[in-house]
Amino acid sequence: MIKLDIMQPSLEKLRKFFRLEHENKYQNTAVIGGLASMLDYWEGEARADSVNEEVIQAVVARLRSYEKLSPEGRAESLKGLWKRIGETYPEANQKPKEQNQVPRQERSDVPVKQESKPQNQNPVKQNQHQPHQKQRPNPAPRSESVAGAKHSQTPAAFDSKLTVLQGVGPKNAESLAKLGMQTLGDMLYNYPRRYEDYSLLKPIQALMFNDVVTVLGSVQSVTNRPIRGGKQNIIELIISDGTGSLRISFFNQPWLLNRFKKDDMISVSGKIDQYLGRLVMNSPDWEFVEMENLHTNRIVPIYALTERITQKWLRNQMKQVVSYWSPAVVDPLPDTLKREARLVSLSEALTQVHFPDSQDRLKLARERLAFDEIFYLQMGVLRQRKDWQSVDGRRFTVTDNWVADRLANLPFSLTSAQQTALDDIRKDLDSGKPMNRLIQGDVGSGKTVVAALGASMVVSNECQAAIMAPTSILAEQHYRNFVNLLTGEKGFLNQDEIRLLVGNTTGSEKEAIKSGLADGSIKIVIGTHAVIEPDVNFKDLQFVVIDEQHRFGVEQRAELRSKGTNPHLLVMTATPIPRSLALTMFGDLDISVMNVMPVGRQPIATYVLRPQERERAFTMIRSQVQNGNQAFIVYPLIDESEKMDARAAVDDFEALSTHVFPDLKLGLLHGRMRPSEKDEVMLKFRDKEFDILVSTTVIEVGVDVPNSTLMLIEGADRFGLAQLHQLRGRVGRGSVASTCLLIPTREDATENERLQAMAVTNDGFELADLDLKLRGPGEFLGTRQAGFASSLKMASITDVKLIEKAREQAKNLFEKDPDLNQPEHALLAEAFQRFWNGTQSDIS
Ligand code: ADP
Ligand code: MG
Repeated sequence: MIKLDIMQPSLEKLRKFFRLEHENKYQNTAVIGGLASMLDYWEGEARADSVNEEVIQAVVARLRSYEKLSPEGRAESLKGLWKRIGETYPEANQKPKEQNQVPRQERSDVPVKQESKPQNQNPVKQNQHQPHQKQRPNPAPRSESVAGAKHSQTPAAFDSKLTVLQGVGPKNAESLAKLGMQTLGDMLYNYPRRYEDYSLLKPIQALMFNDVVTVLGSVQSVTNRPIRGGKQNIIELIISDGTGSLRISFFNQPWLLNRFKKDDMISVSGKIDQYLGRLVMNSPDWEFVEMENLHTNRIVPIYALTERITQKWLRNQMKQVVSYWSPAVVDPLPDTLKREARLVSLSEALTQVHFPDSQDRLKLARERLAFDEIFYLQMGVLRQRKDWQSVDGRRFTVTDNWVADRLANLPFSLTSAQQTALDDIRKDLDSGKPMNRLIQGDVGSGKTVVAALGASMVVSNECQAAIMAPTSILAEQHYRNFVNLLTGEKGFLNQDEIRLLVGNTTGSEKEAIKSGLADGSIKIVIGTHAVIEPDVNFKDLQFVVIDEQHRFGVEQRAELRSKGTNPHLLVMTATPIPRSLALTMFGDLDISVMNVMPVGRQPIATYVLRPQERERAFTMIRSQVQNGNQAFIVYPLIDESEKMDARAAVDDFEALSTHVFPDLKLGLLHGRMRPSEKDEVMLKFRDKEFDILVSTTVIEVGVDVPNSTLMLIEGADRFGLAQLHQLRGRVGRGSVASTCLLIPTREDATENERLQAMAVTNDGFELADLDLKLRGPGEFLGTRQAGFASSLKMASITDVKLIEKAREQAKNLFEKDPDLNQPEHALLAEAFQRFWNGTQSDIS
């Protein structure tokens, strides 16, 4: 590393806080709890840095009374204080060099009157070394002045290649690029993977019996003590940390004798025991520590690494970049917003997320950074919505009579939720704007019929509709439903006006469908990805449905849409998501929630059985089959190769078909089969060629086999709640009462909270909420929404409170200034642009 003529870190810190305070207009908010509260640790740090004692006293005295002053008084006080510091430490009054790649003109490090050019404070290599400092005119004090601020948001240096850093050559730059870092700005946003909190270290002197602690010390001695007549041995280590010494014992690890040398620094973590009245630690976890890494009492960041890069080296680079450049970041969020949302400044957040001074400040830093992500995302979603609405959509009007006719022809009456969703669609179609709607309805809530009725409104006006489902079995199921609903005596379409287009549709049929769609003689096409193939063209596509939307990529959804001109779009999902999440993730969509089940639908009676009650489950299956019904047996894994001891579908399939149900017909379905094989098995099951389907979790979401009335889920404790609920939704689709049996892997898991919850409620939304609580951030949606979540490095889509807050703020701002045209939002506009450049532009 370069040797920098840098001030003592404690003074540097002070400088940063003063700057921050200046930016915050002397509201005493630069430090949580007020500037005075930093004194607790600052004083110690300053002494450790050997800062002049008079200076320390001056700082302490001024900051103690800071709170009582008016903002003007505070400004005076800090200026005076900094001037005082400058008398002892002239470098304090230097200002970083201003060159092309150096931050903005108006970066005023501290509110000092006289500023001069910096010496080598800048960790960026300087090609031409500037001659010694010269007085230059004091730049205008920084205000939220736009013209200046506009360019300052991204100090040009943030785009600098990393080779500008001392110690980073092309090789290292290449390695850093592998970690996603190309520029200085990337480094700032390269958050640590985790932290080691050495601030929780306990000095040896303070150890107590039974403590579970980490102790840091230097090795004083290593000895090998044979026991049991030399058959076994103990390596004994004495370590000392200056406050005392501690004996560490390792049993039967003779090789350790040569691992340790006197004065090696090691950290040991474990439980403090007692031996002959003295405190000892037995066989702890241990590792060598490099003292340079640990400024004691500090939370140390741990970064992701790649070849040729060590933690220590990267941390040093990060430290240079962060401590110099974070303070230079200008915060794009307006002050009022920050105050309302109680956010720390961006500089503070970036500094603390890398080198936190305390867990509390780390938490606030992470919160700020997470807020930004959700906030920008939300702004984008709102903008998309606006864009979407700025184009015209074809109007489709149907009369009440027409609707009544359609409904009268259904074999059932709509639930209230279906009715509402249909009304929503009808209004959208008649609005003159393209519909952009999400139907979120639990499994079995009857989304298909709503989609079919929506499509028929458009089709009855001579236009076309396309429905895309993730698998051919689902597509086929929809096809039959549509045909039943819309053709024949009661319908208004001919059967050949609705067609199925899937992967294994024959070549001649494909050609016929394509030409029918192109000339408009086919009104509705239902299919898989096959419908978005480039040579599928429509005469006038005006209604697009995407079922199980999470199974499709952004591009695929966009592709289907692009086959028409601003067609109306309906996406459907059975993933129950709490409302605030749905609004964030699908904020550009209108949402219809279908939370009512069709009448007559029997709740699925769910029981948790103990593993030894499996025989009972088999008896129940047998009796269902004897009644002419079918059953599922579901397993968590394909075979035993994965190390968990879950019962495996493939293995058990053999046993089940030869020993347990030799007289019944069993089918097997698992994830290693080809899609066409899976479809075939599923179809056979649907057509009752099997009595029992033994399966892993691949049984298709959305597949309707009303005749199946029992599901046995093995290894049930291995599934998440949402997944159990989705699986259970495969049964109970007819009017016959259905049963779900859950057998956990171990008896003690019968009390498992998730499993019990399944037995208590059939409501997907209720379960989703519970799942969120039980499993916490990250797990809930899994990788399904990965496209969305990948733009979030810090935020968790399950942090509902944060999301609400960010959403609220984004909405307020958007109402005031949707295009971010107002001068005070110039910085924000720029930051927003940057965020979205790196993100998907369509998340529907
Ligand atoms: P999902 O919302 O999971 O996609 P489906 O649309 O597949 O559900 O519907 C599940 C089953 O419920 C289908 O067999 C469908 O015919 C039936 N169904 C839909 N709406 C009603 C209703 N209002 N009353 C009775 N049965 C209905
Ligand atoms: Mg469905």
